Amino acid sequence: MTLLVVLEHDRGELAEASREALTAGRDLAAKLDASLHALLIGGAAEPLAAEVAANGADVIHLAEHDLLVDYGPDTWAETVRQLADELDATTIMAVGTDRGNEVMAQLAARADLPFVANCVSIDTTPGDEPWTITRIQWGGSLLEDVTLSADQKLVSFGLHAVAAEPFAGASDGSVELFEPDLDDELAVTMVKDRVVLSQGVTLSTSPVVVSGGRGVGSADGFAVLEELAELLGGRVGCSRAVTNNGWRPHADQVGQTGTRIAPEIYIATGISGAIQHWVGAMASKKILAINTDPEANMVTKADYAVLGDLHKVVPAISAEIRRRRSS
Ligand SMILES: Cc1cc2nc3c(=O)[nH]c(=O)nc-3n(C[C@H](O)[C@H](O)[C@H](O)COP(=O)(O)OP(=O)(O)OC[C@H]3O[C@@H](n4cnc5c(N)ncnc54)[C@H](O)[C@@H]3O)c2cc1C
Repeated sequence: MTLLVVLEHDRGELAEASREALTAGRDLAAKLDASLHALLIGGAAEPLAAEVAANGADVIHLAEHDLLVDYGPDTWAETVRQLADELDATTIMAVGTDRGNEVMAQLAARADLPFVANCVSIDTTPGDEPWTITRIQWGGSLLEDVTLSADQKLVSFGLHAVAAEPFAGASDGSVELFEPDLDDELAVTMVKDRVVLSQGVTLSTSPVVVSGGRGVGSADGFAVLEELAELLGGRVGCSRAVTNNGWRPHADQVGQTGTRIAPEIYIATGISGAIQHWVGAMASKKILAINTDPEANMVTKADYAVLGDLHKVVPAISAEIRRRRSS
């Protein structure tokens, strides 16, 4: 039995979601007693094979073709379909990033198969039919139980639904070249160029996120949050009340209609913790809420809370960090 994991990378840089996919793939392959195959698409991905092997893949397939020099949902999906057929893969999975789900949806349409997106857990054993799956719906505000029955099962795990864990076993996976049969008509959508809006650590991968909500009061009020985030090596996020007011760009928004984050620590200041914000923040390892209202959702759900005016508390934290670092 073969489980094929489709990995995501951007011009040779492995997405954090791919490490999550390999962790989830190892777990699912063990449940199914299946061998774990991983697919890297495009020649730029070749240097990633060693890391993928170190993450427990038994076989790493490196797909190369002139039409695979950059991301394209149609060409990627067709590549996955051809390899899955060649391997007779019984399960194909990805992580539910925009690209992961886009490729899987394309594949489902091509192969006329059902696809269960954004799973958080899959309950199955070898030969079990159908599978029982819990998946995220409505941006994380709803968990839905579904069953999946198909000869070839297509699933994606929700982004940050599984924490990436290092593999403890031997990393002796073999690398095999795969040359799919693709023609120009397939390349309907392809990345040609991109404009980088932010560089380095992104909101979704930052180990520290310092967010501000309506309680910050103005765009200028974010200066103290920028300062704290810089001291902690993190990124600034915000609530939708903030983006609605035009104080920060939408790229900084955490939540159902923003970014899902999973930092080591999330510092939420002046944010009430509405469900649509919470679903984007709930994968954080620890949450510190700073709020004047002891009844605010964010305060009652947080691991730690400071009750007080963020304009006084946040500069005090920054000052204390500086004092300790200089002593
Ligand atoms: C379909 C839909 C999608 C949505 N998607 C998102 C999303 O992706 N992300 C998101 O964030 N929201 C989203 N929302 C909006 C969400 O419902 C809330 O309206 C929003 O999160 C509230 O933002 P807030 O917590 O900053 O503001 P408020 O709810 O107004 O809370 C402000 C908080 O600041 C505290 N405060 C005030 N002054 C201070 C001070 N000086 N010091 C400390 N604390 C102070 C208050 O006690 C309060 O808790 C969505 C809504 C809908 C309907």
